[in-house]
Amino acid sequence: METFVNGAVFGGAIAAVIILVGVFMRPTLKCSECGTPLPKFRKPASFHQGMWGGYTCQNCGAELDAKGQKKDA
Ligand SMILES: [Zn+2]
Repeated sequence: METFVNGAVFGGAIAAVIILVGVFMRPTLKCSECGTPLPKFRKPASFHQGMWGGYTCQNCGAELDAKGQKKDA
């Protein structure tokens, strides 16, 4: 029983580490217009951004998709 509990705790810790590494290893995106680095954690400016990703550049105000490319309006 104790072995089972230890295994569950260990498995959970590994999963948490993998998720954290995935977040921190993500390359920092830059605005394709002005080159300003985009924050990894941002407040979505709209429902669509919250659902699909995407950014609004803090520096130049460009609408960017989830890969940092400017969207054609
Ligand atoms: Zn920009």
